[in-house]
Amino acid sequence: MAKIHQPDPNVRRILERAELEGIELIRFLYADHGGVIRGKAASRSRLAERLGTGIGHTVAMMAMNMLDQLQEVEHMGPVGEVRIVPDPATYVPLPHAPGAAAMLSDLRLQDGSPWEACSRTFLKDAVTALAAEGYTLMAAFEPEFTLGRRLPDPAGGPDRLVPLDDSLCYANAGFDIAHDYTMKLIRALETMGLRVEHYHPELGPGQQELSVRHAPALRAADNHVLYRETVRGVAMRMSMWASLAPKPLADQAGNGAHLHLSLWNDTRNLFEEGSQVRDWFIGGLLAHLPALTALTCGSVNSFRRLGPRMWASAYAVYGPDNREAAVRICSPLGETGEPNLELKPSDSSANPYLSLGAVIHAGLDGVRRKLDPGDPVDVDPDTRPGQYPPLPRSLEQALDALEADEMLMEALGPLRRSAYLAVKRSEAAAFAAKDPSYELFHHMRVF
Ligand code: GLU
Ligand code: MG
Repeated sequence: MAKIHQPDPNVRRILERAELEGIELIRFLYADHGGVIRGKAASRSRLAERLGTGIGHTVAMMAMNMLDQLQEVEHMGPVGEVRIVPDPATYVPLPHAPGAAAMLSDLRLQDGSPWEACSRTFLKDAVTALAAEGYTLMAAFEPEFTLGRRLPDPAGGPDRLVPLDDSLCYANAGFDIAHDYTMKLIRALETMGLRVEHYHPELGPGQQELSVRHAPALRAADNHVLYRETVRGVAMRMSMWASLAPKPLADQAGNGAHLHLSLWNDTRNLFEEGSQVRDWFIGGLLAHLPALTALTCGSVNSFRRLGPRMWASAYAVYGPDNREAAVRICSPLGETGEPNLELKPSDSSANPYLSLGAVIHAGLDGVRRKLDPGDPVDVDPDTRPGQYPPLPRSLEQALDALEADEMLMEALGPLRRSAYLAVKRSEAAAFAAKDPSYELFHHMRVF
């Protein structure tokens, strides 16, 4: 088979590193329409070739939902092949899996061109669309997760996540209880090149928040994939269980992955106070928000999290440092801090490439059309019944909004949108037919 890529200067470096670091398996990872991180691994002895050709993969996997139920999607049947082709810039050893490394990958056709259902390509295209108008976007996910142990249910139901502690929100005792785990996690992330920004134990049993530094959009999404898998992998190695599911414990605080954004023109942050571009970008986010949530809050479980009084947001409004607004204008931290926007309806069950790509399209649409975001909201919007537009209350509602959003449907393109809708509708139907404990377990198992 013909090689897909031209020789890349990174390739030699990767091969040398893999040998030096004793790496035997290199995982080529991608995110699917169910938000699941999947992949195949090349052995080191075959890596030189596989970096070029990728590894063959059935087109059908992009029609698989998070319960491993294959959906019927045209052009994603049993016939047809794509390649999982790793991006040479993303090679990273996995400290929690000695002997293994990972590379974030695109799904490509056999001639090397991008497959129209590749999620990472969707984000790359969105970044290119921004660049064509002179902008770049910096982003960071701010993820929360629940740390505990996996125990069988004495009543014979699905396994349960028993939280590690009952320490209070931001309480010093919580730092100590989770200390050994957090040290391992931080060292692993830093080794992988993710710069850890903050850490604290948060609200509710076992909840942790650890954020990493912002990066250009594609890198930020790649980072979030690695983050998710490392949070869970480090826990597994310590016989613990960690879940980034939006609402692993139905009656406790949810796990968000708020998305922090700043738009740049060369070296200038365009989200500074008084910026018109910032207001238009917010206008775009708000205009598309009901539809956007189908991508940024991508699972059935996501909609247990969105609700008032949880700082997770329940209304499509914005406001300066308003923790109940879907879009918060964050005041910069000190002299070196950068003004940024925080999108709260965002969690780690989303496919980060689709999520961030859609956010870019929405914001850019606002800038192009000079969309007025209206007045900022400086109260808890839930205290003014009927005054503000609520966010969708379920995945089905969000998917209906997505189907009705011409701009986002166009941006997704025919194959991607039909597969995404089929996969997500199937998940909504599968969980609606079962007990809530089934939904909680399966989201904890995957996210
Ligand atoms: N746990 C909240 C959420 O679900 C976020 C709390 C915070 O602001 O850190 O989004
Ligand atoms: Mg938090």
